[in-house]
Amino acid sequence: MRSFKSLILFQFAVLISGMFLFLLFSGLFTFKLASEYEKRYIDQISSILAENVKLIAEIYPNKYLIEESMKRAVEEIPALKGMCLVIDNQKFCYPQNLFKKYSLKGKGVSYSDSEIVVYFPVYEEYASQFLEKKEEGFFLALFDRSYVNEFKNYWVLNSLMISISFVILGSLVIISIWLDIKGDFNRLKRFIDGLNKPDTVLTKPGKEEIEAFKLKEFRRVAELIVRLINRISELKDSIKQLAITDPLTGLFNRNYLNLVIKESYIPLWRRKEFPLTVALLDIDNFKSINDIYGHSKGDEVLRRLGQIVKETLRGSDIPIRYGGEEILVVFPSSNKEEAVKAIERIRSKLMEEDFGIGRPVTFSSGLADFPSDVKTPGEFEELIEIADERLYKAKKLGKNRDVLS
Ligand code: GH3
Ligand code: MG
Ligand code: MG
Repeated sequence: MRSFKSLILFQFAVLISGMFLFLLFSGLFTFKLASEYEKRYIDQISSILAENVKLIAEIYPNKYLIEESMKRAVEEIPALKGMCLVIDNQKFCYPQNLFKKYSLKGKGVSYSDSEIVVYFPVYEEYASQFLEKKEEGFFLALFDRSYVNEFKNYWVLNSLMISISFVILGSLVIISIWLDIKGDFNRLKRFIDGLNKPDTVLTKPGKEEIEAFKLKEFRRVAELIVRLINRISELKDSIKQLAITDPLTGLFNRNYLNLVIKESYIPLWRRKEFPLTVALLDIDNFKSINDIYGHSKGDEVLRRLGQIVKETLRGSDIPIRYGGEEILVVFPSSNKEEAVKAIERIRSKLMEEDFGIGRPVTFSSGLADFPSDVKTPGEFEELIEIADERLYKAKKLGKNRDVLS
C-alpha cells in the first residue's frame, strides 16, 4: 500500500513536470509566433516601400530627386539600411555603392544573419504607366536584421517571462499547499506514533497542537483522537474504580487490599518504617438484623456504615470491606491509641442512626499497630491476625467495644 507521503510526492512530481512541459510548449509556440512576427514586419515594411517606389517612379528620370527621396526614406525608416532602383539600364541607389553587393532577379525576401533583402520587379507592378521603354527593372531594399530582431527578441523574452512567471507562481502555490499538508500529516503521524507505544499512558495532543493544524479535515481527525483518548481514560478510570470498590458500602474491596496495599503500600511501609495501625470492625448481632428484618435491612445498615466510615476517616486512612460485615481500616502514620479515636467517632455516629429495628446498631473492633504489636515493619498479615484475635476478645467481653491489647 502506498503511503500518504509518497502519494503527495508523486502528485507533486506530476504537477511540476506538467508545468515544465507547459513551459517547453509555450516556448516553442513563442518562437514560432516570433518568426511569424518577423515575416509580418517585413511584409509591412515592404508595402511601405512599394508606396515609395510609386513615388520614385513619378519623379523618374530625375536622378537627383530619386536619390534624395531614397535618402529620406532610409533616414526615416529605422530598419532600412539602403535601397536601389534599376530601370532602363540605369541604377539609382542610396547609399550609392550598395548595389555592388547584390544582383538579384525575380521577387522575394532573403535573410542573412545581419540583413534582410526585399526585392521585386517594378516594371509590371508600378512603373509601366510612367516608363516609355518597356524594359524590366527591379527594386531592392536592404534592412538591418538586428533591428528587427531586437523587437522580436524583446517580444520573445516578454512571452517567456510571462510563462516562466506562471510556472514559478504555480510551483510556489503547489509547494506551499504541499508544505501545509506535509506539516499536518507529520503532526498527525506524531499523534498516531504516540498512541502506538505499547503499554503507556495515552498521550493526547494539547490544545495548541490541535490549533496548529491548517487543514480542517486533519484537525477533525486530531480532535476525534483526543475525544477517543478522553473516553478511553474515563472508561479506564471507571473500570479501575469498579475493580477496587465494593458496590454496597462504597469502600475499597479485597482487590484493593491485594493489588494496591500489599503490592505497593506495604513495601513502602517496610522502607520508610512509619507507624501503622490496622483495625478490624465487625457489626454486633448482624445476623439477627437479617433474620428479623430481612436481608435488605442488613444491606441498608452496611451501606450507611460505609458512608459513616468514609465521612469520618481522613483521606489518608484506608477503609476496606474485608468480609460480609467486617471492615478493615489501615491507618498509616498512626498508632492504635490515635486510631481508636476515629473508630470511636464511627461508633457514636452509627449508634445515633435509627434503622427502625428498635435498638442501635453497634460493632466491636480489634486494633494492632507497628511498632508496639509487631516489631518489624511490613508484617501486615501478622498485624491483621492480632487485630482479629482482639476483635474476638471484644466479642467475648460483651461486644460494642474496642480492644487494643
Ligand atoms: P457477632 O455479633 O458475633 O458478629 O454476630 P453476627 O450475627 O454478626 O454473626 P456473624 O458475624 O457471623 O454474621 C455475619 C452475617 O452477615 C452472616 C451473613 O448472612 C451476613 N452478611 C454477610 N454479608 C452480607 C451482606 O452483604 N448483606 C447482608 N444483608 N448480610 C450479609
Ligand atoms: Mg462477622
Ligand atoms: Mg458480626
